[in-house]
Amino acid sequence: MTELNFQNNARSGIPENSAGGILHIDLDALASNWRSLRDHAGGAETAAVVKANAYGIGIERAVPALDRAGCRTFFVAHLSEAVRVRAVAPDATIYVLNGLSAGTSPTYAEFDLHPVLGSFEEIDEWASFCRAQSQNRKAAIHVDTGMNRLGLTVPQGLTLRDRAELKDFETALLMSHFVSAEESDNPVNGQQIEAFEAVRSSLPGIPASLPNSSGIFLGGKPPYDLVRPGYALYGGNPTPDRDNPMKPVVGLEARIVQLRWVEADHTVGYNGRWLALTRRRIATLSVGYADGYPRAASARGKSGDELLAGMALVAGRPCPFAGNVSMDLITIDVTDVPEDQVRRGDTVTLIGGDLTVDEVGRRSGTIGYEILTNLGQRYARAYRGGQG
Ligand SMILES: *Cc1c(COP(=O)(O)O)cnc(C)c1O
Repeated sequence: MTELNFQNNARSGIPENSAGGILHIDLDALASNWRSLRDHAGGAETAAVVKANAYGIGIERAVPALDRAGCRTFFVAHLSEAVRVRAVAPDATIYVLNGLSAGTSPTYAEFDLHPVLGSFEEIDEWASFCRAQSQNRKAAIHVDTGMNRLGLTVPQGLTLRDRAELKDFETALLMSHFVSAEESDNPVNGQQIEAFEAVRSSLPGIPASLPNSSGIFLGGKPPYDLVRPGYALYGGNPTPDRDNPMKPVVGLEARIVQLRWVEADHTVGYNGRWLALTRRRIATLSVGYADGYPRAASARGKSGDELLAGMALVAGRPCPFAGNVSMDLITIDVTDVPEDQVRRGDTVTLIGGDLTVDEVGRRSGTIGYEILTNLGQRYARAYRGGQG
């Protein structure tokens, strides 16, 4: 397990001693993950997906670090996010995945942004805007090969080459998105590749993009001209059935605000959902669900039970959550940690070491993606590296 090293932190925002938790963000690991994905991408351009505030770590810090690593193309979900990326990456190519909202074309032109067009209405609107401006602006076209969510259907995609509007703008990218790329043996992957290739071969000369993080590791035919990793950049495991090839980017520490002994037959937390069978030592942490730590990680049962619930590392030892996660507090059972190794004011690890974002997601009944993108605004954020 790679150790996070947080020397030379660039502190930002809320001071550490007045925050309930400290979020460590390693921008060197982010850059290193981008380079390692590029090395896996078989010569395809490696873009970066930085939607949702760069999966929680901060667009304004992540994008310059990725830019310095050599990344030239960024994807966001919303137009507002694209404007934020433009402010810190004046020369980058920026795509907006969620499509062209009616009437927003002038904003795309103003900030030199590229929409990902996902319907004939959007294609028509972009084409007429470009025609009116006499400008051959770039856009991507999204073909839906199985998600049934966003993009032209495959039959619609196969009619694209006959549509006159395509001459009014430059289709810089033809893209689709995997349904289950993290399940390498799922037959839907091959079906999507086949459907995408039918559309792609009907539009020769247009660069093609299919893989997300997990798609890069699938094997078989893709990568094509550009790959679109998100999660793996931020340290998530793109190959969940194997060891994680990525470096951890995010660490979370929480402060102990109280320690107490709870007598046998007493409960801990809201609704008394956790019962001490013997006398237990409980540490109260100043992080809760208002910080984005899922309430679904609550530990409901009895002391000593093996529960699928939250966990903290205290002086290197795993300590299970005890009771419901509150809005601003989490209670953990530290009875097994020597008394002098756990004191008021100490910090414990909520994300880090074996508590990876994937593991925290699993223990919370969700996925690591949701853990990252919910990382709250009350933490002190300690950024490290990112200078190249
Ligand atoms: C979010 C997203 C990605 C990135 O996916 P990861 O699984 O995070 O790598 C790529 N392409 C599209 C269309 C997306 O919406």
